[in-house]
Amino acid sequence: MKITIIGAGPGGYETALEAAKKGIECVLISDGPVGGTCLNEGCIPTKSLCRDAELCRCRQGDPEYSKVLARKDSVVSRLREGVEFLLKNKLIRLIYGKASFADVHTVKVHAADGAELSVTSDYIIIATGSVPAPLPVPGADLEGVIDSSAALSLQEIPRRLCIIGAGVIGLEFASVFSGFGSEVKVLEYCGNILPHFDTDMAKRLKQSLSRHGIKIETSARVQGIARDGQGSLHVSYVKGGEENETVGDKVLMAVGRRANVRSLNLDDIGLAWTERGITVNGYMQTSIPHIYAIGDVTGGLMLAHVATFQGYRALGHILAGQPAEGAVDNIDFSVVPAAVFTEPEAASVGLTEDECEERGIAYEARKAFFRANGKALSLDSADGYCKLLVDKETGLVLGCHIFGPHSSDLIHEAALLMNGKIPVDEYRGFIHAHPTLGEVLQAAARE
Ligand code: NAD
Repeated sequence: MKITIIGAGPGGYETALEAAKKGIECVLISDGPVGGTCLNEGCIPTKSLCRDAELCRCRQGDPEYSKVLARKDSVVSRLREGVEFLLKNKLIRLIYGKASFADVHTVKVHAADGAELSVTSDYIIIATGSVPAPLPVPGADLEGVIDSSAALSLQEIPRRLCIIGAGVIGLEFASVFSGFGSEVKVLEYCGNILPHFDTDMAKRLKQSLSRHGIKIETSARVQGIARDGQGSLHVSYVKGGEENETVGDKVLMAVGRRANVRSLNLDDIGLAWTERGITVNGYMQTSIPHIYAIGDVTGGLMLAHVATFQGYRALGHILAGQPAEGAVDNIDFSVVPAAVFTEPEAASVGLTEDECEERGIAYEARKAFFRANGKALSLDSADGYCKLLVDKETGLVLGCHIFGPHSSDLIHEAALLMNGKIPVDEYRGFIHAHPTLGEVLQAAARE
């Protein structure tokens, strides 16, 4: 059996490694460095910047920004080299070039060195990720209006940064650059930040970010951007029927990402896709059953770990002989932890309170605050809370929403409770070490 995987992000390369471990011949095609957006222009470099911004905020000094950038680049290249080594070690054929479909079993590749080649295989997995979505307003293409990739390689810290969109990307960069001393203003179209997260948690996080000096305007509709003679960018927006303006040295567009499908030639082979992304079923099969699609390109939850596990699902389905129904693994895609690496961090898993209410589920919200947690106080990081949503009938955890120190790590404990279907009363008997941040979950359960 031979599988071709298009795209070497955490969906593509992890699936290739898993396939190789099972003895399957695998070809991986990538039109950029291995690791994709996550490793090269997303999750990993931003985490390096987050750490330096946090240190900078604590020391209250000016960072040596060239050193910050150098450290970020070295973190990225170390990880990239690691992935390249693993692929080589598992004898996965890696082709650098742009892939498109020649027919339903053949992918043609315009290699980086100008050569053209074709790869034919039994199965193909599309894992081409996503690209930043542009905001269709006048001035969006002006110099100084940047996307998240460009924000990572700015050579100087902007004095004034305007960010359009208070989603995950907008807020992570707001936190990073405010830590480095920029004056940051965020404009968000919806009535609250992080519209896909728990409303109560998002409101409290907004207060925390505001205390760090980040100005956030919600219900703000951006109209356009203009550049004046000094190079400043004027962003005009409407809020509450009134026209307003904010000025920045840079404007970061963070209004979402869209599936990267355009150059694949999908229409020629009759593979179904919409503006949202490639259409797939629960096994990640596209409308052509031996072609699968995983990750951002399917337009679902755009998270690196979701892409990886969707790849495992697709592989499991192939190995099981493509059954039409039934489970091929124990992955539960309703339990997906997600984290926002702001300062303080926020993290979520499962249902929000709004979703519980929409579904008519009788639930109770159990909360514990970091201000009562000895470790958080010792860390001087006691802002935030943990909220467990518990089903009143079954006692099972429906969701968990945390903001505060290390919540991106703490959330997995709640995910385990959900995966393991462990009732909260049973969890109350699980001993936690003292003093630790993890005690905040126990404290919420014991409420
Ligand atoms: P997003 O969908 O999370 O947020 C975009 C925000 O922009 C929304 O709040 C939206 O209301 C707002 N917006 C849209 N149009 C606007 C307008 N005209 N004016 C003002 N605001 C507007 O998208 P993102 O932050 O760009 O991230 C893209 C994807 O990448 C998301 O799916 C996200 O989950 C993922 N991502 C995840 C992480 C993480 O898990 N830590 C990090 C980065 C990105």
